[in-house]
Amino acid sequence: MMAEFTINGERLWQSLMTMAEIGATAKGGVNRQTLTDEDRRGRDLFRTWCEEAGLQVSVDRMGNMFARRRGRDESRPPVMLGSHLDSQPTGGKFDGALGVLAALEVVRTLNDQGIETEAPLEVVNWTNEEGVRFPPAMVSSGVFAGVFDLEYGLSRKDRAGKTMGEELKRIGYAGERPVGGRPVGALFELHIEQGPILEAEGERIGIVTGGQGARWYDCEVIGAETHAGSAPMEGRRDALRAAAGMLEDIYAIAHAHAPAGRATVGELHVHPGSRNTVPGRVAFTIDMRHPDGDTMDAMDHALRQAFERRRGANAGGLDFHVQEIWYAPPVAFDPDCIDAVRQATRRLSLSAREMVSGAGHDAVYMARVAPTAMIFVPCKDGVSHNEAEYASPEACTDGANVLLHAVLARANA
Ligand SMILES: [Zn+2]
Repeated sequence: MMAEFTINGERLWQSLMTMAEIGATAKGGVNRQTLTDEDRRGRDLFRTWCEEAGLQVSVDRMGNMFARRRGRDESRPPVMLGSHLDSQPTGGKFDGALGVLAALEVVRTLNDQGIETEAPLEVVNWTNEEGVRFPPAMVSSGVFAGVFDLEYGLSRKDRAGKTMGEELKRIGYAGERPVGGRPVGALFELHIEQGPILEAEGERIGIVTGGQGARWYDCEVIGAETHAGSAPMEGRRDALRAAAGMLEDIYAIAHAHAPAGRATVGELHVHPGSRNTVPGRVAFTIDMRHPDGDTMDAMDHALRQAFERRRGANAGGLDFHVQEIWYAPPVAFDPDCIDAVRQATRRLSLSAREMVSGAGHDAVYMARVAPTAMIFVPCKDGVSHNEAEYASPEACTDGANVLLHAVLARANA
């Protein structure tokens, strides 16, 4: 068998390390938050590299960057490949940057080999994937995919009151192109897994079949404050004691839907917050997730039933409120794009497993308007959103090679 042609792993690693110098932190991570001066420098470098590779760079009104390589058939919609160059405040070198720079490396490799594709290719850098400076996350791919309108996107504010629109202008990336509204042939995003599964199982590639759904709730238990010493245990309307039971219910529901079910209570506010007063009110949040929509509904039903039982057990004593404030349905990626990734791993003899993304990604929104799939590579100890985040040069190379062959297959299909 002829050896498959592959990307230049050293060049990819060099690009990753050079990009990581922009916004480098003392602990070896990256602080390149969206629309800061560091983000501008990262974008400028990316643009220079793209132009050196003969790509035509355009910017849309959300600052999304598209670096186009012509296809033999320019009437075909482009195959997009990329991710995001913005980071968390104490982020790593690989989250997002790997997907963008591997996409650039794919193009550099095609140039080296003199290979044309039928469909044009577009290397993409999405603005503000992280959502840390301007919530929510993935807002610009969201505008592209019609999840949010342009006004909403441009008016997102940071803590200092600056809007995305103002900051895009300030750094020179308020582009002219309309956001979205054009056909996309397919989209492939390579990303570090940000979880421990691939490393633990010794697999080199994750073939991502979709993104899990998430539901957010705000909950409140209302009881009554009373003296911690003089009020007998019987007859207290202790909101925290009731909430503790509800927390057990929540975790039990996640475990009942193992291994994919997730439940997290990340905020708990106890009022009045005095050590010698029985809490009269407790507010908490729930984040519940699962890759299957019917199962998500079953978990929601179980949660409400469990709370009703708590209410019954506390008849007359306490009041319970649960409100769903956000629902993102599970997303299934495109079977043909998934298969292109699967075939690429076989061709390259890379061990792989199919999996669902636990985190949100631009690809999850883009799946609404284009055939989409993702490729995961392992990262050390599953650590991400952390300055210690690390993916080995071999893992980065593996992922870029799968990206290369999946994109080639799609662009020539
Ligand atoms: Zn990311």
